Amino acid sequence: MRKNLPLVLVSLCFVTGCLALDGEPFRLNILSTSQEIQLGEQIAEQVEQKENVSTDAELQAYVTAIGERLALVATRQDVPYRFTVIDNPDTVNAFALPGGHIYLYTGLMKLCENEAELAAVMAHEIGHVAARHHGEAMTRQVGYNFLMQAVFGEDPGTLITLTSNFLGTGFMSYYSRENEREADALGMEFLFRAGYNPSAMLSFMHKLREEERRVGARPLPIFASHPPTQERLERLENLVQRYPLSARLEGPVYEERYREIVLSRFQ
Ligand SMILES: [Zn+2]
Repeated sequence: MRKNLPLVLVSLCFVTGCLALDGEPFRLNILSTSQEIQLGEQIAEQVEQKENVSTDAELQAYVTAIGERLALVATRQDVPYRFTVIDNPDTVNAFALPGGHIYLYTGLMKLCENEAELAAVMAHEIGHVAARHHGEAMTRQVGYNFLMQAVFGEDPGTLITLTSNFLGTGFMSYYSRENEREADALGMEFLFRAGYNPSAMLSFMHKLREEERRVGARPLPIFASHPPTQERLERLENLVQRYPLSARLEGPVYEERYREIVLSRFQ
């Protein structure tokens, strides 16, 4: 079964993948919350075998505190959000697993100038979890029947192989553009509700665009299938207008403590 899986996946995608016509959201999601959490646990184990999880307790505690502040105001409260730093200063990336486990690379932390910018990325990832994008992306990608079989079928190996397949390319390649827009909008809302300056999402996106230009043809993982950065920036410019001027101008970004706790480590 395992041996044949890639072929099965490819052919099923071919048959059912076109259900997501022209990027229109395909909202079918058959994963329950407990299945999502269980899946996330399995994938987290694989992530942590493969990636270099940071052993820096202070850095980890700092990131957890930011994550908890954001998770507290998220629209979804039935999953245990967790935040883990991956020590890889050359990778500008962050991703969320089904069930609320979120990973942040030190390469991304280095790119942020203040705590609110890092919180903006974390809030975007929480947005994917809160809007249940994982189940939706998996259903869209492998097809309803196959996912049903993987989740409810008798061979537990099918599900494990399926999840490792998603792990290889990262979930971000499976999110639709609509998913990304929704995660941006939810993320900005969580950022604001948690008391951060909502404009930090915009300033981070500007940095991403500069980085994108700097690395040229080699796309950063975080860009895998996101809408073009320019388009996202324009949408974020509109979104941020929803928030009070005082929050946009004076909302805290915590530049100093970010420099002390995070940026000083990379100098
Ligand atoms: Zn995203």
